[in-house]
Amino acid sequence: MVKIHMDVDICIIGAGVAGLSAAKLLYEKGYSIYVAEAQEKVGGRIQTDWINGYLCDHGFQVILPSYPSAKRLLDYRSLNLGAYPRGAVIFSDQVEWFGPPLMYPRRWQFGKRLSPSFRDWICFIFEALDSPYPKQIDEQKTTYDYISERYSPTLVKKFLLPFFQGVFIDPNCLVSAQLFRYYWRLFALGGGSYTVPRNGRNTQATCQFNS
Ligand SMILES: Cc1cc2nc3c(=O)[nH]c(=O)nc-3n(C[C@H](O)[C@H](O)[C@H](O)COP(=O)(O)OP(=O)(O)OC[C@H]3O[C@@H](n4cnc5c(N)ncnc54)[C@H](O)[C@@H]3O)c2cc1C
Repeated sequence: MVKIHMDVDICIIGAGVAGLSAAKLLYEKGYSIYVAEAQEKVGGRIQTDWINGYLCDHGFQVILPSYPSAKRLLDYRSLNLGAYPRGAVIFSDQVEWFGPPLMYPRRWQFGKRLSPSFRDWICFIFEALDSPYPKQIDEQKTTYDYISERYSPTLVKKFLLPFFQGVFIDPNCLVSAQLFRYYWRLFALGGGSYTVPRNGRNTQATCQFNS
């Protein structure tokens, strides 16, 4: 049972990334804050266990350093971020890799190369350059329809669909295409690829909490 302290301006329930972010912003505005957390550790769904010398993350996979709120709230230097190259290794009926020509490191090139068409690359570049944060989601077209119309069937089937099914946690990719374009921009641009804190995810929550 969580005890609530009433002698503060604001009480926040839950020390996940949302609660900690709210606490930080409100504290900076001069409010006194109490954060109530039911679990023993802060971080909510962002957790890491140390098992036999290995860091095992729960669920949460990567931080995109270009996340606008993360840029504002997190201290990337203390997180000691390790970066994966932009691209993917695909495990289906065979192993294939996919990444930007001349930039994707050799040691990550497992199996055969999945080659997007010239039109696919042009579309990727276009999405990355021209997809601002949607202040309002007003596009009715779903991600599934959008990518199926624009990209080659092989790329959709092998990479775009399974990847964005995971990102949106939606097996049908019915999320608005506006969000697909915005996320694609975050993955492709912004000075970073996909990163993980080298010392485990709990540093992400602690860093947010301490700062
Ligand atoms: C499998 C998986 C993979 C993901 N991968 C990524 C990723 O790669 N990149 C990314 O950016 N996001 C990812 N996400 C999303 C991200 O993990 C969540 O959006 C984020 O952690 C949610 O934070 P939150 O603070 O809203 O909620 P939570 O993390 O769920 O925190 C809620 C907190 O509130 C506490 N609480 C609840 N009820 C009470 C109560 N009554 N009293 C006190 N405390 C209470 C809980 O114990 C918990 O600590 C992933 C999510 C999942 C499930």
